[in-house]
Amino acid sequence: MMEKLSVNERFEIIENNLEVIRKNIEKAALQSGRKPQDITLMAVTKTVEPVFINHAIKCGIDLIGENKVQEFLSKEEYLDLKNCKAHLIGHLQTNKVKQIVGRVEMIQSVDSLKLAKEISKQSINKAVTTSCLVEVNIGQEESKTGILASEVINLLEEISSLPSIKVEGLMSIPPICEDKKELMQYFMKMNDLFVDIKAKNIDNINMNVLSMGMSGDYTEAILCGSTMVRVGSSIFGPRLY
Ligand SMILES: *Cc1c(COP(=O)(O)O)cnc(C)c1O
Repeated sequence: MMEKLSVNERFEIIENNLEVIRKNIEKAALQSGRKPQDITLMAVTKTVEPVFINHAIKCGIDLIGENKVQEFLSKEEYLDLKNCKAHLIGHLQTNKVKQIVGRVEMIQSVDSLKLAKEISKQSINKAVTTSCLVEVNIGQEESKTGILASEVINLLEEISSLPSIKVEGLMSIPPICEDKKELMQYFMKMNDLFVDIKAKNIDNINMNVLSMGMSGDYTEAILCGSTMVRVGSSIFGPRLY
């Protein structure tokens, strides 16, 4: 279906999708007692060609998220990033840290001290400070990246003493759930963790960003306290691998 559409038709779909998503975000923000501008919309651009990413940016997107270091670096020169920031949201291997530090505004997938140490080291080398989120495996799934909720405080305390790395909050991808009620329990667990850690005022650790919610569940995530939703296929259409 998608490959039969012209570039202009796809541009129009992206515009319409963004309009719908912005309205949904606005509604959920108000419902959760916050302002629409308190919620950041990230466009997730994995597998999306630069021409379409640039169109979303033209339509006001000012934050994109890529999963893979290599994919981001190969697209970077074709992207209009003057008024748009980029975050790495996918799992990051220690040996790729060197390539990505300094290229993205934030790494959302920090899930070990080893990785944090390498980010710190490479940030010092490049004379930058790297903003990060700690990724939490809130469903305690064997197959998932992220650290267990019970280990987050320990990790944060260790990261807090590392130079040139700055934690700004938490990120999570909840398990696939049968129903919205179960899903919202995971989002609420994340929000509880976020609020608890914020109250601890750990030195050098900020809790400003709670990154959760994707195409299928961003409304629910906002209702449970998300401050940043990461939306891919609802903006750009289904991914063609
Ligand atoms: C792909 C991806 C998303 C977006 O998924 P959609 O369902 O297409 O909105 C969000 N976060 C992460 C970490 C992803 O890998």
